[in-house]
Amino acid sequence: MGDVGAAAWETLRHQLRNLEGRSYREYKGIKGDYAFSDFVLSVDYVQGDPFAAPSRIRIHLPQAVAQFPGEWITDYVCQCAIADYLTRQVAGVAKKLAQKRGSGKSGKIEIAAPSQAILRRTALWVDKEGIELRLTVGLPAFGRRIAGKAAAALLCEDIPALVARTLRYEAIDAAALEEQVHTLEDAEALRHQLEENGLIAFIAENACLPRRSGIDERPLETDATAFIPPVEDTIELETPHSGMVKGLGIRAGVTLIVGGGYHGKSTLLRAVEQGIYSHVPGDGRQQVVTNAAAVKLRAEDGRSVAGVDISPVINHLPQGRDSQNFSTANASGSTSLAAGLMEAVEAGSKELLIDEDTSAKKIMIRDRNMQALIAKDKEPITPFVDKVRQLYDNYGISTVLVMGGSGDYFAVADTVIAMEDYQPRVVTEQAKAIAQANPAQRQQEGGQSFGRITNRDVLPGSLPTGKGDRPLKVKARSDGLMLGYENIDLRAIEQIVEVHQVRAIAQAIIYADRYYFEQARPLSDVLDYIMADIQRGGLDVLTEEDSQFGKRLMGDLASFRRFELAAAINRLRTVTIAT
Ligand code: ADP
Ligand code: MG
Repeated sequence: MGDVGAAAWETLRHQLRNLEGRSYREYKGIKGDYAFSDFVLSVDYVQGDPFAAPSRIRIHLPQAVAQFPGEWITDYVCQCAIADYLTRQVAGVAKKLAQKRGSGKSGKIEIAAPSQAILRRTALWVDKEGIELRLTVGLPAFGRRIAGKAAAALLCEDIPALVARTLRYEAIDAAALEEQVHTLEDAEALRHQLEENGLIAFIAENACLPRRSGIDERPLETDATAFIPPVEDTIELETPHSGMVKGLGIRAGVTLIVGGGYHGKSTLLRAVEQGIYSHVPGDGRQQVVTNAAAVKLRAEDGRSVAGVDISPVINHLPQGRDSQNFSTANASGSTSLAAGLMEAVEAGSKELLIDEDTSAKKIMIRDRNMQALIAKDKEPITPFVDKVRQLYDNYGISTVLVMGGSGDYFAVADTVIAMEDYQPRVVTEQAKAIAQANPAQRQQEGGQSFGRITNRDVLPGSLPTGKGDRPLKVKARSDGLMLGYENIDLRAIEQIVEVHQVRAIAQAIIYADRYYFEQARPLSDVLDYIMADIQRGGLDVLTEEDSQFGKRLMGDLASFRRFELAAAINRLRTVTIAT
């Protein structure tokens, strides 16, 4: 079997053994395709030394060998579930198989490690032809001398063992795989039913919302209180594999989450914010789903803002600064939140999620006494309490707001959910009655309507580019990225869950610069184009063509939304906007 032109695997073994003791550079000669008894191994990229970024290999196993059931590999959702499952299996087995085989990264076998979310990734894909797996390996060396026998053991023994243990249907725990497929299909079905039911999110009964820690997204193990929807406000949605599922629905409109400190408000909002993703079995949030256009906003002191029309929320800035075309290299809490809000709706978000803990107080509330002391024309900020209603009434954009500290929002909310001992109660009626009995006596400062939502044209030359033939250096971290000399801080973008998404976003920015920003274009149009290109050709469309090497197939990209791509572009300090 095998690709035309693939050498026999014995050739690779022979070559590697012969390289024993030679200079590391000579590893370059093993680039190419090798036919093993039931798969083809492609060595795509060879590292320069044992400490450099590891070498990239690809494995293609045909379905004739893998033997996955036909109906599972033709349905897209099924394929995503299986690919994600296999990625996790490969990660586990690779960890066991890998051994220190010399200096630096010698002997490493790695796959792009997944988070709790089920995402489409370039690390592994399965279709009716077969399975493609992309790994990185550390080609072994002692110092800078090739450890050829160790390399032969790594590529010709460990890799086949890894393939045999993870990619063949007969070697897989079929029940666990089925659970993963059903979990994803159920979550997709729930998310699908949100809109027709007037919902923006759904939290199933018995969901486990709290996480282990601020840096560990796995479920809290001990003492987690299961989520119980309030009896009279429980709704039911249908799933293909779990029948009718009970839960709390968060309706479109303005929703307040109130409650005492430490009673689980932020944890609930966080679960809703993460419900844009489907989660693996055992996560606790498998049936917590949110509309895919929901965007978490937060204040972000110090960020840059390029030409955003923030006038609906901030106007009449001192020194005659233009709020319709607001730029700054150092935003305040309020201006960053205002800009983030306008950027999210520009990118097409229909649901905004805000937590009092991470918002800017000044933009959320302005009470009666403050109104009396500081006249409206001396306060550039229109408090969100006077805008949140208009956002929904004028544009159909919903808001979910955690607000434990101010009752001023009772009057403008459609739904008020109180968290008490981690459990929700719907208290809309009581809140409305209180608002009526004690009117806030504030002046409404929001005017007749929300105001304009503008589309900005990004000017050519806004994004950093490589010099001549040399591609731009990219360095992705979980909380940001470097594009050449430009740093993009993504710490405030809480809906990014994997560094692989950041890497894909970096590639998307380079791609955008190459194909779409050769002229001034509305940012939202470019987001449309890029997402459509990925839809059509997969994440591989993003990896640059290189005149010398052709397409670089990267195994460490994960799917992302237009909102996170927009967020990265919006934080790039080189962006300029047409006026
Ligand atoms: P709030 O925003 O209301 O102040 P948080 O959501 O921050 O409260 O929750 C406070 C603490 O309680 C956090 O440490 C969180 O992990 C924990 N917690 C939240 N929900 C639950 C739950 N259902 N079971 C157990 N612990 C929880
Ligand atoms: Mg909180």
